[in-house]
Amino acid sequence: MGIEKGIRMSQVRLEQVTKSFGSVTVIPPLDLSIADREFVVLVGPSGCGKTTTLRMIAGLESATSGTIRIGERDVTDLRPGLRNCSMVFQNYALYPHMTVAENIGYGMKVRGTPKGDIEKSVAEAARILNLGAYLNRKPSALSGGQRQRVAIGRAIVRQPDVFLFDEPLSNLDAKLRIEMRTEIKLLHRRLQTTAVYVTHDQVEAMTMADRVVVMNQGRIEQAADPITLYEAPANLFVAAFIGAPSMNFIEGVLERGDAGLTFRAPGDVAFPLADEMARKLAPHVGEAVVLGIRPEHTIATDAGLPKIKLQVRDIEPLGPHTLVLGKVGSAAFTAQVHAAARISPDDVIEVPIDVGKVHFFLKTTGEAVG
Ligand code: ATP
Repeated sequence: MGIEKGIRMSQVRLEQVTKSFGSVTVIPPLDLSIADREFVVLVGPSGCGKTTTLRMIAGLESATSGTIRIGERDVTDLRPGLRNCSMVFQNYALYPHMTVAENIGYGMKVRGTPKGDIEKSVAEAARILNLGAYLNRKPSALSGGQRQRVAIGRAIVRQPDVFLFDEPLSNLDAKLRIEMRTEIKLLHRRLQTTAVYVTHDQVEAMTMADRVVVMNQGRIEQAADPITLYEAPANLFVAAFIGAPSMNFIEGVLERGDAGLTFRAPGDVAFPLADEMARKLAPHVGEAVVLGIRPEHTIATDAGLPKIKLQVRDIEPLGPHTLVLGKVGSAAFTAQVHAAARISPDDVIEVPIDVGKVHFFLKTTGEAVG
């Protein structure tokens, strides 16, 4: 099988890599290890440095200091063409005057690969990507999704050590984005090539990655598998970034009372903490903390859960369930309720909190506790 992964190991390692543009440092010393065959997604808000990091791996941007390794090679000072990475861009970057087949095979042709070998690789890529019927068309006669598949085809025939994807699905409509997400995942499963994928879309990150690296201002806030990020965010930034709709946050204090530890906040919020959580939070009694609870953990399943009062402002029926948007005290709060619930704006409803699913963060540092 021509374009499946060989035996080369292709882990990627960034060691104390920095990047400054003039006097502005956009990446402070960054350490990141990506395992051979791993699919890692760099995600974060606009300007956090994910594209710069990807471009430094590709060699399209030089690192200001630090070392970048691919496999056993130090590639820090190697030019892009010698790093054996293939990059897929958001804007496809296809040659408009060439056919699909010529676009896919172009890199091989430039390297002087014999015509027969190019044809074989192009045919195989076209088969994997379902492009067989379009090989003689020009890019202008293709849909956005088909163009992106051609760009991916061009990347895979090069048999790179590493695939680099820079927001490759951003120009596609929502439905096609979801389809292409699956295609790229299946492709990775098949080719087993180490992949680094940049997106600002946390859903894309969560659904595609073996491991998600959440970046903020050039730093890594947390790097973990999607479920760990969702269930155990390391800090407020990650908690707020991962999950849609976003986690709710209520600022309050921890108090010790007769019933053990209690979280108290404006808007009549007061509830005792379960034993294990109370043990973890005991050193922080008297401190300002932020409670985090995801909308999906406000649905009543058990009687006897503590409840908080939600002043309803708006209702979003989504079909399977309904979101209720409002305020708890002065904090914005979104609850998820059963689709059949009859709730109107201006109601005050009691929202049960699944205490086993709450998170606590120190207000001073944002760091997760408990
Ligand atoms: P986006 O999702 O908007 O593409 P990003 O996380 O990929 O954002 P980068 O493109 O890596 O962010 O940019 C990181 C920071 O570096 C930004 O503040 C950006 O303005 C700055 N930057 C990027 N390229 C240059 C450049 N060539 N010259 C000066 N500053 C730059």
